Amino acid sequence: MKLLCYAVSDLEKPYIMAWAQKNNIEIKMVTEELSYKNVQLAQGFDGVSSEGITPVDERVYQAFETMGIHQLAIRQVGVDNQDLLAARKHHITITNVAAYSPRAIAEMGVTQAMYLLRNIGIYQDRMAKGDFTWDESTISTEIFNCTVGLVGVGHIGGATAQIYRALGAKVLAYDLTYDASLEPYVTYTDLNTVLHEADIISLHTPLFPTTENMISEDQFKMMKSTAILINVARGGLVDTTALISALQHHEIAGAGLDTLADELSYFGEHKNPSELPADYETLSQMPNVLITPHVAFFTKLAIRNSIEIALNDAKTIIEGGRSRNIVS
Ligand code: NAD
Repeated sequence: MKLLCYAVSDLEKPYIMAWAQKNNIEIKMVTEELSYKNVQLAQGFDGVSSEGITPVDERVYQAFETMGIHQLAIRQVGVDNQDLLAARKHHITITNVAAYSPRAIAEMGVTQAMYLLRNIGIYQDRMAKGDFTWDESTISTEIFNCTVGLVGVGHIGGATAQIYRALGAKVLAYDLTYDASLEPYVTYTDLNTVLHEADIISLHTPLFPTTENMISEDQFKMMKSTAILINVARGGLVDTTALISALQHHEIAGAGLDTLADELSYFGEHKNPSELPADYETLSQMPNVLITPHVAFFTKLAIRNSIEIALNDAKTIIEGGRSRNIVS
């Protein structure tokens, strides 16, 4: 069996090589992205894998079909840039990696919450000006005395619930679906109760038209003035203008954001930071706001798992088997 991996980064290479050796399968790695321009690189291979950010259109699946390739293993969660209907039409089975390491993202959310809970950003801001004082406005709460409110308790929300429970916090959860396996860790309730009662509100739903700006002006008004909002899910879940206003008017105490709305305008390195959206500049200057560049997923285990799961699926499907990760 011969596989071609598109858009391979240097970080992925050792894990792909280790998988190839373990499974005794020949793999060619290329840095080119999967696109109509590069699809002919797959000629002579039995299967393919790619990242999931570059949009793929019907011509790619058609070319795969002509070459006798019947699967595409995406090494990420998102398949929104695939044309799933067109893939089906050309008998291409697409798989994704729905959960490469929920713990990685959960731990980033908890890390951000701890940082904000202990006012570290505020102290660092003061200390940079030579001010080593503390006062009533920076007194903290221990995590086991906190109520955590999770919005969405799927893979990542569920892992987050387990960590907070292990730390002794009370965990409230709001989700459209009920998962009995989370009963030891969460108390299910409605969204308003989560917003009213939680000291830490952590978002873990996907971004859908129904969840876009689900945290906006009205929701901020329901939160405690001491509450911290954590968003390691998708920036579009939060109305940024309302968030800035809530922070400026002390309606909440802080925010941890691994994901920002309009994220495509931030990707990559910006030699001239003034190119960045004005919202970012406002938020990044607040000592009670912590922003990370969408790196909650970025752990060694997550990279290894995304490769192992994708390539295992490629092999299984080429050999005629089924995978629970099939999305088309
Ligand atoms: P998941 O599908 O396992 O869980 C999502 C949960 O949200 C489900 O239980 C679902 O029922 C619930 N849900 C959907 N709509 C809802 C609504 N309107 N109200 C309440 N609950 C709702 O997804 P996951 O793998 O846990 O991912 C969660 C989020 O994390 C997604 O937004 C994903 O894009 C994001 N994510 C971020 C990173 C990162 O690096 N920051 C990495 C991976 C995933």
